[in-house]
Amino acid sequence: MALIYLTEAQLKEAIDLKRIAVMTSGGDSPGMNAAIRAVVRYGIKQGLEVYGIKRGYAGLLDEDIEEMTFASVGGIMEKGGTILRSSRCPEFVRKETRAEAAKILKKHGIEGLVVIGGEGSLHGAMFLEEEQKIPVVGIPGTIDNDIAMTDMSVGVDTCLNTVVDAIQKLKDTATSHERAFIIEVMGRHSGYIATVSGLVTGAEAIIIPEVPVNYEELGNKLLQERERGKINCIVVVAEGTASAYTVARHLEHRIGYETRITILGHIQRGGSPTAFDRLLASRMGVAAVDALMNGESYVMTALQGGKIVTVKLDEVLKEKKRLDMDLVKLAGLLS
Ligand code: ADP
Repeated sequence: MALIYLTEAQLKEAIDLKRIAVMTSGGDSPGMNAAIRAVVRYGIKQGLEVYGIKRGYAGLLDEDIEEMTFASVGGIMEKGGTILRSSRCPEFVRKETRAEAAKILKKHGIEGLVVIGGEGSLHGAMFLEEEQKIPVVGIPGTIDNDIAMTDMSVGVDTCLNTVVDAIQKLKDTATSHERAFIIEVMGRHSGYIATVSGLVTGAEAIIIPEVPVNYEELGNKLLQERERGKINCIVVVAEGTASAYTVARHLEHRIGYETRITILGHIQRGGSPTAFDRLLASRMGVAAVDALMNGESYVMTALQGGKIVTVKLDEVLKEKKRLDMDLVKLAGLLS
């Protein structure tokens, strides 16, 4: 077997990037624009040409690709959603489709790809590199906080603030009319949003997929509290457990309150990103470009103990992020 040694100059040439692209895919989350802005501006400052791929993998297959400039990302930091738009592209699970996508990227001279999105989008990115040898770096963008190996994903903090604001408003009316509100929040299979929003609004109960619920016991507890003089009752339920209607069916005749149901729905994805999300997205955008420029790919940017690091995509995607049970305990202790 022949070993080939590259000189330092050859090595530099080998990873001497000229053109990269950035895209957003899957469920949108607030802060994606700040990440796009960081990739584009930092990339250009590093001497790269940066292209934007519109509408995720669907737009890539349609060759909906255009060069981004410093100005094209001006004034987007504070905007919710994603200026590159997003989509779901079911055919991307097929290897042949990904081969087609790789051909298009090569045709456009794109040597590195930054994919901002959730678990599904990161899977697509991982396969693009594994099979098609396209260097990819992922940035976790999802409101669900269900991506492993990063403390937070871009969009989680804004979503939490939206949910907390909504619960607080519902609590006002719950108190005025001495009612119970069953509030369904997003999170896919994770109870993170429900747990944290319930904890910081002092909800009487939080129902999440990670902890089995005994409706009879819960109903008795809520009824006792009502009898002791409580005048409102907030139950937060994670969409991954049951619908708010199911929870209401189990509880409303047991707890001594007139009950109302609110499904917060897609307002949880929108809105101007918080300072935290803007900062996280900006840091991750820069880290993603740095990674590509250093010849490091097949990674995702991650927040670990306050620092931005890179972690291998396959390691991220092979495990499910677990909900920190200390948060669940804390919520139980203080409610
Ligand atoms: P999110 O990225 O927010 O988790 P989805 O799960 O809908 O959203 O995934 C977004 C897109 O990523 C899908 O429409 C598809 O194009 C691609 N994708 C999802 N899962 C896979 C997979 N296992 N293999 C390849 N591509 C995938």
